[in-house]
Amino acid sequence: MGYFRLYVRVLALLAPNAGLARTLAIANLALAAAHFAEPVLFGKIIDALAAIGPNGRADWPRLATLLLTWLGFAAFTILCGTLVALYADQLAHRRRQGVLSEYFEHVLSLPLAFHSAVHSGRLMKVMLQGTDSLWGLWIGFFRDHLSGFVSFFVLLPLSLVMNWRLALLLIALCVVFAGLTAFVMRKTEKLQSLVEDRYSELAERASDTLGNVALVHSFARVQAEVQGLRNVIDRLLAAQIPVLSWWAVVSVLTRASTTLTILSIIALGAYLNTQGQASVGEIVTFMSFATLLIDRLQGTVSFVNRVFMEAPRLREFFEVLDTQSVIRDKSGAIELTDVRGAVEFRDVSFHYDDRRPAVDGLSFSAAPGETVALVGPTGAGKSTALALLYRAFDPQSGSIAIDGTDIRDIKIASLRRSIGVVFQEGLLFNRSVAENLRVGRPDATLDELREAARRAQALDFIEAHPDGFDARVGERGRSLSGGERQRLSIARAILKNPPILILDEATSALDARTETLLQIALEEVMKGRTTFVIAHRLATIRNANRILVFQHGRILENGTFDALVAQDGVFSQLAKAQFVTATSAS
Ligand code: ADP
Repeated sequence: MGYFRLYVRVLALLAPNAGLARTLAIANLALAAAHFAEPVLFGKIIDALAAIGPNGRADWPRLATLLLTWLGFAAFTILCGTLVALYADQLAHRRRQGVLSEYFEHVLSLPLAFHSAVHSGRLMKVMLQGTDSLWGLWIGFFRDHLSGFVSFFVLLPLSLVMNWRLALLLIALCVVFAGLTAFVMRKTEKLQSLVEDRYSELAERASDTLGNVALVHSFARVQAEVQGLRNVIDRLLAAQIPVLSWWAVVSVLTRASTTLTILSIIALGAYLNTQGQASVGEIVTFMSFATLLIDRLQGTVSFVNRVFMEAPRLREFFEVLDTQSVIRDKSGAIELTDVRGAVEFRDVSFHYDDRRPAVDGLSFSAAPGETVALVGPTGAGKSTALALLYRAFDPQSGSIAIDGTDIRDIKIASLRRSIGVVFQEGLLFNRSVAENLRVGRPDATLDELREAARRAQALDFIEAHPDGFDARVGERGRSLSGGERQRLSIARAILKNPPILILDEATSALDARTETLLQIALEEVMKGRTTFVIAHRLATIRNANRILVFQHGRILENGTFDALVAQDGVFSQLAKAQFVTATSAS
């Protein structure tokens, strides 16, 4: 996206407050017009003063009128300027928060495939710094850029009309400014993009390290991680410093040319005065114009510099905002009502990338209330298959139906309300136990929370904490044990009460008591709903209606526990191995 289009897009984000934005813009233009009055009045006053004769006779009423007019303009400028600044600040702040929440909503609704590819630290950085840049540009637009830009295009022709010889010097100065800026922009464009990449890398790395602080400590990696971050900082500075140096050169050269221009105007003005081609008042007015114009020119360069520096950051922001979710509601998508829970996979294949498929030609079904277990080695495609059911991804071929309706014809929110997922890690927010439980049912009463916790075997440990349901669970539930996190997420699913349930059984070994508690909790949550279990312990699935044995994304064997054991295939070997391990361990 070019700089101009980028800037237009930045301003377009003010659309929800277009009325106020337009009023502020017009007020700004009025202010800019008022600024022109000052040099004109100044010149006229000088000429009136110069006309005072040696006898002290002057046109006092005219002088007084001129001074009062000046006073009037000054009062208008100050009052109007303050109001514009105040409302512009408020508008920019309000829109910054508005855009931030729009970005947040957009990012949250992007599919898991996007989130697997982009680190949350980077997304946070893009959100905070992107909205910061927008805010800065909006403030700048109302405070300086707009009036500066307009007055620049008024001042230049005006100075030509006033005295074209002197104006030529100003035009030459504009050409120098424009040339230098364009040159340095071209020179540093790539580097500035690199700087932004480095900033994103920095944010990603810092947040990744902080999120894994237990790992950092256990491997005594504090120094190594700090060094890693410093390396990114070094690379960032290596790109940033040349950019800063180039812009410093612009600053030096433009200032020098400004001084030279002013001196030339004085010299040429003096000469023109001797030739009778300019009065002293005219020269003073022209000098004031020149100063204003130069001020605007410098303002324009710093504005261009700002847009230039912010551009990569804004491009990154808009890129995320423009990312289209491939998983969207189809027009005419329906709400699921009275779900019975019949699920059917028909020849479903899906691959994450161009490598081999994660699941390949899956066909199976579950009748309402049935339990289907998925077993097999890690990486066999079990989680992927079930993620397709709640449309974390869409399969490249084949289809999945619930109660005979293709899930792509169902509204996504409605589909996901009908499916409960108990994740292996028991994902939790850094909020209270109650808030975590209410995720699937915000209006649940405390009694309902207690009942769900009781059924999930979680009530005892919740109540053992002095703050009970108000206790915070820490980032990702760190202040709880793995078994506790699991039981909380089971309680959450019980509360949500979905007709279809996906259970990703924890792989980590639990002590015998926790294991028993968890088993009771699992049986409780599975009651009366179609359940898919990714099972690691075969004891869990003894009573499953159907067991699907996965290998390399395909279903190798399919049947009940006893039938599969009798088949003497992969499953029976798996069962034997677990049995042997279990007996040798005891
Ligand atoms: P399982 O649940 O049986 O352990 P998965 O469904 O997690 O297996 O993984 C199936 C295959 O897909 C594996 O080869 C795995 O590496 C790959 N895979 C899983 N998740 C992703 C992802 N987000 N991006 C790319 N590949 C993935």
